[in-house]
Amino acid sequence: MWAQKPHTAEAAGSLLAIRNAPCEQDLTIVCRTPHVRDKHLSRWENEGWVGVKDRDVLRCLAAEMKTRTGQTLFLVDERGDMQELKQANARANNACDTSQAGTIPVPILPGYELPGVKLANIRQRIVYHAIREWKNAERKKRESMEERVADITADVLHDYDRAVDPENIWLSAHTKDIALNTRNFIWRMMHDSFRLGRKWEDIPRCEDFGVCELCGAEETIQHILLECKHPGQEQVWAEAKALWAKTGLPWRATTLGGILACGLATFPNRNGKLNVAKQWLFRILVSEAAGLIWKIRCERVMEPENPIPDPEAVRNRFFAVINVQLDIDRVLAKRSPKEALASLDPGLVLETWTAVVTCGADVLPKNWLREPRVLVGTTRHNRPNGQNR
Ligand SMILES: [Zn+2]
Repeated sequence: MWAQKPHTAEAAGSLLAIRNAPCEQDLTIVCRTPHVRDKHLSRWENEGWVGVKDRDVLRCLAAEMKTRTGQTLFLVDERGDMQELKQANARANNACDTSQAGTIPVPILPGYELPGVKLANIRQRIVYHAIREWKNAERKKRESMEERVADITADVLHDYDRAVDPENIWLSAHTKDIALNTRNFIWRMMHDSFRLGRKWEDIPRCEDFGVCELCGAEETIQHILLECKHPGQEQVWAEAKALWAKTGLPWRATTLGGILACGLATFPNRNGKLNVAKQWLFRILVSEAAGLIWKIRCERVMEPENPIPDPEAVRNRFFAVINVQLDIDRVLAKRSPKEALASLDPGLVLETWTAVVTCGADVLPKNWLREPRVLVGTTRHNRPNGQNR
């Protein structure tokens, strides 16, 4: 499965075009980007395809081009003005709306494969990358990590209707839409670096720590975030979903991979463009809800002498963490972009939060950024300690 990227789509589309055209016929392939071009393919082939993204499909394309007796030309239309290109874009958008991931076989035709790097005129950088790739290929791969990435990839396809590659998944944990401490938590969850479940089995007299004392199940990330019956898990998700329902859009993070890779959630507008404000809010809600469930679980395990939080406490804590994000965005939106500090577009902040904030019993002002009574939730005591500015 390949990622849904224009470069990948153009490479795959070019390959299908070559396969479907008679080999003696001249062929002109129109692309939006200069990524797939004969001169690039020749260079990458000489460099042994070292560090080339989508190399599986590009190698196959380069090999099958050599079987053609007709001429193959690549024409770049960066503005996308050509009618054929507009039709291709429309078809690509329709294909993206289906959750069926297609596959294209990319075997290299016998006799057309050129393995290795051509050493004449080769740059030192390429040799360095080639040696690193060969060494990495020889290393024993971490099967558990690969399985986890495969699970997240499948969950992202299920929840967000997006085919992504491992690089997208790792990058999603760094999106600036998610608070820094929550990003760290998601990164560690993706790497399964917390001591949970079976990781306690090897430690004498600690075997029981890997089992949830209420549910009797192995305490995995999946169990903590989506299945546990301890107070917090179900309620936090219910609060997040109720808040999101105010936007009128469907809740989409239904799987563990969908939660961990919430930085890949996208919401298109009716015109097909991305609704940046809504995807930003969704990423905040999912990541903060997951982080809060984890915090409540850790407090219960580490400090068993503390009382179990009741539903009102859980609710207040949820709105507190969301209001922290709202406050940060408000501060950044008040800054001028001319200042040498981080700032945000006030219009984007208003668009992101307006559906979920209230101004007590009063009508919400149109520009509420400087109105301190505007909060997510209904009462002032939803604010966390120290946030009563
Ligand atoms: Zn449990």
